Amino acid sequence: MTYKSMPKVELHTHIEGCAPPAFIRGLAKEKSLDISGIFNADGTYAYRDFDHFLEVYEAACTTLQGPQDFYRLTKAILEESASHGVVYQETFISPDFCGGGDVTAWREYLDAIQMAADEADRDLGITLKCVATCVRHFGSDKAKAAAKCAAETKGDFVTGFGMGGAENFGTPTDFAYAYDMAREAGLELTCHAGEWGGPEMIAATLRDLKVTRIGHGVDAIKDPALMRQIIDADVVLEVCPGSNVFLQATGGWSEHPIQRLRDAGVKVTVSTDDPPFFGTTMTNEFDMLSQTFGWGEEDFKGVNETALAAAFCDDATRSKIAKRLETA
Ligand SMILES: [Zn+2]
Repeated sequence: MTYKSMPKVELHTHIEGCAPPAFIRGLAKEKSLDISGIFNADGTYAYRDFDHFLEVYEAACTTLQGPQDFYRLTKAILEESASHGVVYQETFISPDFCGGGDVTAWREYLDAIQMAADEADRDLGITLKCVATCVRHFGSDKAKAAAKCAAETKGDFVTGFGMGGAENFGTPTDFAYAYDMAREAGLELTCHAGEWGGPEMIAATLRDLKVTRIGHGVDAIKDPALMRQIIDADVVLEVCPGSNVFLQATGGWSEHPIQRLRDAGVKVTVSTDDPPFFGTTMTNEFDMLSQTFGWGEEDFKGVNETALAAAFCDDATRSKIAKRLETA
């Protein structure tokens, strides 16, 4: 039994982290960049451990050198996602990697990415929205510049603001200014927390950055009072089980807290994070949840509904996606 053809809503992906290996190999060849060392013989990304993963990720990113490359990347990603039944996807896009924090350059990248997204919506029935993101370990000044880029381009396509990067760098309050700027511009807010940083990091993030979603958030399982707070505040977790298992942020699939979080009443959604790097797809996530916890069609429908309700999109898009979920 596979859930490949079931329609899916995915909230947590990183644009560069979704790059199919074959696409990156093709770009490297065109640009005569030698990055052959980052691939296995079977063409998948090769790395030994988490630090090496970051090196491989960065090497793969060196092939992405301008708006046109991101246009092509977006097309390749959405084709892949659509083949796994994804009908709505949100992706983190960093103004640091797309234009170096400069608003004018950022707009050019966004235009190219949005053009690819519009084509995929028309041709493949998959809608993409962008969560502009700052990189935590780049520090608060760069985060402000990223928030400014996000605020200046807030609209139909750039609908949210977030933060990824090394969770142990600084404290959430260091980034409150950037988040305030994004909130004032009308952007919806999420932040990676509680993947590595424990329940304290989730609590501090909710308090200081006032987000409505948390990226990962799986460490909430360690603190029942925090879980209660998350439920009462109607905060939604963007859970990426395959990523957690692969990076050993949690135990194996059978120990993954998604089931216990859900049983406790926490709103959970399911995403892939950086799928080809972690050897996963949305099909694999659904299939593994089915095999591990016995989730069936009704469970996945519920997860899709939770994700759609928490999606950073306007109501017209939400009802369009709801129809896709119903009629598929
Ligand atoms: Zn992530």
